[in-house]
Amino acid sequence: MADGDENRRSIAMCEECGALYAALEISEDDYRPIGRRDGCQCGSLEFTPVDESVSDIDLEGDVTDE
Ligand SMILES: [Zn+2]
Repeated sequence: MADGDENRRSIAMCEECGALYAALEISEDDYRPIGRRDGCQCGSLEFTPVDESVSDIDLEGDVTDE
């Protein structure tokens, strides 16, 4: 119940290089990788949400098990 933790957590994929990150939906259709305010390792800021059922992916960002 941390303050400011009401954003939805998701998995997002970089549209440029396909890297996967744990991400927050900060607004509609706008995702940011957790711990990466500068965006992807490739410099892109465009991410596509990925279904969280994809659980065996190699996340580059920080993710916490439930
Ligand atoms: Zn990228």
